Amino acid sequence: MGAVLKILQDLLELQSVDVRLHDVRARLAAFPKKISELDARIAAAKAELEQSKAAQLATIKDRKKYELDVEQYKERVRKYKDQTAQIKTNEAYKALQHEVQMAEEEIAKAEDRLLEQMVASEEYDRRIKAAEKRLKEVEESVRGQRATIDSEKAAAEKDLALVEADRARVTAEIPEDMLDHYERIAKKHGGVSLAEVSDEKCTLCGMQIRPHVFQKMRRTDSQEMFHCETCTRILYYIEPTAVPPDDPKPQVSGASASSSSEN
Ligand SMILES: [Zn+2]
Repeated sequence: MGAVLKILQDLLELQSVDVRLHDVRARLAAFPKKISELDARIAAAKAELEQSKAAQLATIKDRKKYELDVEQYKERVRKYKDQTAQIKTNEAYKALQHEVQMAEEEIAKAEDRLLEQMVASEEYDRRIKAAEKRLKEVEESVRGQRATIDSEKAAAEKDLALVEADRARVTAEIPEDMLDHYERIAKKHGGVSLAEVSDEKCTLCGMQIRPHVFQKMRRTDSQEMFHCETCTRILYYIEPTAVPPDDPKPQVSGASASSSSEN
């Protein structure tokens, strides 16, 4: 195998390692968001419970106030009635009767409000119980999901270590200038710096490869490395019959150098 073909094959292997590296990094990058989503679910369930408890507390406070109102107006009515014995004039009597009536109306109002608050309080009790139940359910479900995430994360970290070791092994085979060249193109093209030629076209951008270039690419003793004139990626060609089914490594041929191959 020519030196160029060996490099192409190593670069191709590096690219497949880099695709895995990209995947495993994407998997790892997704965990913080998943974890904060779980935290947010618990926080929302807790907030709902707190809200119901606060509303209940406010109701109890109101209820005490209305109870006190009722007591005060009742006390007033008692006083007025005690005074009735000492009343001398009809007008004074009428005025006192009016005061009693007003106080009794206030009692009725306060009792109505008290009743409303008691009904509301029962409703808040129900809400608190429901919110507590819901919080428990959410916590349980989050615990399960969190355990899954933790084990997925541990697996992804293990995969990362494996892929990084693979990358170190593959890059050790590649001359440094070729590695730089590969990295530069990869950076520009979303991590993919090699493009397969199929039907005499660059499969990644669709550019037609010129016939004489394609002929050169197919030579297994090619000493040239070719690049796509349009997307600048390193081109490789796999002869349809050149890959035995049990060979894991595709047999690569080289590609077409062009003026626009590198910038
Ligand atoms: Zn291309």
